[in-house]
Amino acid sequence: MKSAQQTPKTGKVYLVGAGPGDIELLTLKAARLLAEAEVVLIDDLAGSEVLSLCPQARIIHVGKRGGCKSTPQLFIEKLLVREALAGHKVVRLKGGDVSLFGRASEEFAALEAAGIAFEVVPGVTAGLAAAAELKASLTHREHAHGVAFITAHGAEGAEIPWQALAQSALTLVVYMGVTRAASLQASLLGGGLRGDTPVIAVENAARVDVRSVCSTVATMVEDFARQTLKSPAVLVIGEAMRERAVQLAGQATEDSLSANTKIASVA
Ligand code: SAH
Repeated sequence: MKSAQQTPKTGKVYLVGAGPGDIELLTLKAARLLAEAEVVLIDDLAGSEVLSLCPQARIIHVGKRGGCKSTPQLFIEKLLVREALAGHKVVRLKGGDVSLFGRASEEFAALEAAGIAFEVVPGVTAGLAAAAELKASLTHREHAHGVAFITAHGAEGAEIPWQALAQSALTLVVYMGVTRAASLQASLLGGGLRGDTPVIAVENAARVDVRSVCSTVATMVEDFARQTLKSPAVLVIGEAMRERAVQLAGQATEDSLSANTKIASVA
């Protein structure tokens, strides 16, 4: 007779958004799952502070920061499957939100193919954290009736409908745009966006070293270079940002800081 103990137990995977960096922006559900996890796979962008919430867990770092040596995606998927098949409760922690620019669909597919149960816990995405830092609304009754989250990754390719986006009057929140600012600018101008459209870059949103750089589509490449804008940063582009950009630029001039302003100083 088979006892229940002899039946191998399959674990479960929780794909959890860690938010942009401030540990207080984690959901209560994320904190609970971390406290219960046996294994935690963590991204670079998820920040190491959250690990204080799971001292009992085995931690596996699977960093993939742009340009640096990265853990191959396939390897991460195999790890998730292996750990779950071993019966573990696994948390796969991703920076920001799970469903944006984190190759989550590949991880969902791998788990589904292996017959492993999984859940997704959303997190605060960097673009929303940037808007909070700026105290700016991404929508505006007169200027922007919606928001598009876009990667600049394919800025030079044809796959992003820049013309449609330029004409959409949506606020554009661009991820991974720092090193691709020049091709992004060319795509935006080529798509018909006005050169004087405001661009505010927010570096390290929801972290102690948060910084913003105000610019326009026409001048963003020089402004980012002059202010040495670094990753991670999101670029918030559109008329909804005009009022805030004017305030920030005014403040920066007062402080003789050119267009660069510590957000905290304008609070
Ligand atoms: N899933 C993540 C995005 C991962 S792609 C999310 O929802 O936020 C990585 C990009 O996210 C970076 O290149 C940068 O554009 C942005 N990013 C992540 N954390 C950030 C932060 N704290 N401040 C500003 N941008 C950030």
